[in-house]
Amino acid sequence: MKTLSHDPSNYERTQWDPIEKSPAEHIDANLTDYRTSYKVFDWAAARSSLAGLPGGGVNIAHEAVDRHLGTSVADVTALRALRANGDRSALTYADLAALSNRFAGVLHELGVRPGERICILLGRTPELYIAALGGWKAGCVVSPLFSAFGPEPVRQRLAISEATTLVTTKDLYRRRVAPIRGELPDLRHVLVTDADSGGELEGGAIDLALAMVAVDAEFPIVRTQAEDPALLHFTSGTTGKPKGAVHVHGAVLAHRISARYALDLRQGDVFWCTADPGWVTGMSYGVIAPLTLGATVITDEADFDALRWYGVLTAEAVSVWYTAPTALRMLMRRGDELPPGTDLSHLRFVASVGEPLNPEVVVWGRRVLGRPVHDNWWQTETGAIMIANFAAEQVRPGSMGRPLPGVEATILRRGPDGRAAVVGGDVRHAETGEIGELALREGWPSMFRGYWGQPDRYAKAFTAGWYLSGDLARRDADGYYWFVGRADDVIKSAGHLVGPFEVESALMAHPAVAEAGVIGKPDPVAGELVKAFVLLRPAYVATESLRAELLAFGRKALGAVAPKEITFAESLPHTRSGKVMRRLLKAREQGLPEGDVSTLEAGQ
Ligand code: ATP
Ligand code: MG
Repeated sequence: MKTLSHDPSNYERTQWDPIEKSPAEHIDANLTDYRTSYKVFDWAAARSSLAGLPGGGVNIAHEAVDRHLGTSVADVTALRALRANGDRSALTYADLAALSNRFAGVLHELGVRPGERICILLGRTPELYIAALGGWKAGCVVSPLFSAFGPEPVRQRLAISEATTLVTTKDLYRRRVAPIRGELPDLRHVLVTDADSGGELEGGAIDLALAMVAVDAEFPIVRTQAEDPALLHFTSGTTGKPKGAVHVHGAVLAHRISARYALDLRQGDVFWCTADPGWVTGMSYGVIAPLTLGATVITDEADFDALRWYGVLTAEAVSVWYTAPTALRMLMRRGDELPPGTDLSHLRFVASVGEPLNPEVVVWGRRVLGRPVHDNWWQTETGAIMIANFAAEQVRPGSMGRPLPGVEATILRRGPDGRAAVVGGDVRHAETGEIGELALREGWPSMFRGYWGQPDRYAKAFTAGWYLSGDLARRDADGYYWFVGRADDVIKSAGHLVGPFEVESALMAHPAVAEAGVIGKPDPVAGELVKAFVLLRPAYVATESLRAELLAFGRKALGAVAPKEITFAESLPHTRSGKVMRRLLKAREQGLPEGDVSTLEAGQ
C-alpha cells in the first residue's frame, strides 16, 4: 500500500480476513438481515417500541424503569453493583423505581424545578443511577461529571451548566468542590450520598439518605416531551476545551434501538459496559439503554485490572460486554492465556468504542475470548451508536462497520482545510475508497440539540442537512466504514495522507508491540514525517536492533507511509477514558510539557 488517498483498493487490508458468522449466530441475533432492515427501517414506526408516559409525553426514566412495573421484569435485578472492596449489592427494577421516585421527591421538596441542571459527581455506585433516573423524573437536565476530575474541570462544568444542584460524596465535595464553591453562585443544593448520619455537613450539604426517607416512594413523573432537554454531556479534550452537548428525552428511542441492533442486547442479558457514566458511553449504554430492554446491568466501582476483569466476566456470567480498545489492548498485552478459573462461556457478544480498534484486537478476541470484538463508532454529539459491526454480519477487522438502520452516513469530499467542502451551498460525496469527512444526515432521535451556550458552534457543525463529525474515514464498496483519523490528527507526509491509526495498527501486528501512538513531526522536506512512539510488551527490551527491526517491519507493511522514526516509550499519554492523546505526543516530541491531563479529558 502506497498511499491512503483516492485508492479504492486500500481498504482491502489483505492480512486480515473477514470473520464470518455461523448460521446459529445469524438465527439468534436481534438483527438477522441487515440489508433489509436498513431499507425498511423508519424512526416514526420504531417509536411504537417506546412505552410513553401515561397520557402522553416521553421520559427517559419511565422508559428505563417504570415501564417495567407490573411486568415480570419488575422483580428482575436491574443493577448489580460491585464495590472496590469486593462487596456486591443488587437492586431490582421495582427497587430502582421506588428509589428514583424518592430522589425526585427530594428535588421537588427542595424547589428544584424542571429544566434545572443537576450535576452528578459520583463514582460507579448505585446512587449515580438513582440520581440520574430521579433527576429525569423531576424533569431536570442531568449532567454527569467524571469523578476523577480535579477541581478545575469540575468548576468549569458546574459553571458552564449553571447547575443548581450537585450530587456527590463527602470526600469529593471536600476535595473538589469546597475550594471553588464561592465561584458557583447558581449552586444552591449539595446532596451527599454517604453522610452516615449525624454531624454537621460541610458547606450546608444535605444528607441524601435522610432526605430520601422523609419523602414518599411515589412520585408523579414530570410530563416531559420528546424534545425537552434531558442530558448535558461534556465532551472534551481530545481536541480542546469541554463542549456541553445537549440531548433530549426522545433520544431514548435511539438508545434502545441501537443497543438491540449494535450490541445485540435483550431482556435476560447480563450486560457490562465498562465506561464510566461520567462519559456518554457510560450513560447512554451503562445506564439508559440496557434498562429500557430489561437487562441486568453490572457496574464495577474499581478501576481496570486484568485479573479483576476476567473475574467479573466469569463470576457475573456476563453475556454482553461493551468496552474500549485501550482496555482490550491491556488484556491482550497480558497474553493469550486466561487466568485459571476464567469461564467466558456465557459471553455472547463483545463490542468496543471510543477510539480505533486495531484489527489485531478483533482477531485476538475471537481467538482468546471466543468472540470477535465488534467495533462501533459514535460521539458525544450523536448520543448513540451510529456505525457498527453487527452480530449476524461479517466482521471486517479494522472497520467500524456499517450505519445502523435509521442512520444515513456518508463520506464528504474535503476542501483545502481538510474538512468537508461546500460548493455552491452543497456538499460533494466522496467516491468509494476516497478519504473524506464522515457525516450523518441530520434528524436521528439522539442527535444533540445544541452545544450548551454556544449556538454558533452548533450551527457550524451542520452543512446542507449533514452533521459533520470532524473524523476522516472512507467507505468500501460494500458500505463498511474505515476510520482514518480525526481531521486534526491526520498526517500529510510527502504528498501522502496518513491516518495514524493505520500506522499504529500495522506496528501492533509485530509481537513486540503492545501499543503505538503515531504523529506527524514537522519536517522541512516532507512537510511532516511519520513518527511512532512504541510501548513494548513486557518480555521485550528496547534495543537498537529492535528499533531497526520495527522500522523494517513498518516499511514492509506500509511502504511510503511507514514511520521514519520510532521512539520507545515507557507509557503513552491517555485521556482518563483511555484514548491515546496524540497531541500530547506532539508536545512530547517538541520537548514541551505534556500539560495538565486533568483538563484534557475525553468522552466515551
Ligand atoms: P472532543 O470532541 O472534545 O475533542 P472527543 O471527540 O474525544 O472529545 P467523544 O465524543 O467522546 O469525545 O469521542 C468521539 C470520538 O472518538 C470520535 O469522533 C472518534 O474520533 C473517536 N472514536 C469513537 N469511536 C471510534 C471508533 N470505533 N473508531 C475510531 N474512532 C472512534
Ligand atoms: Mg469530538
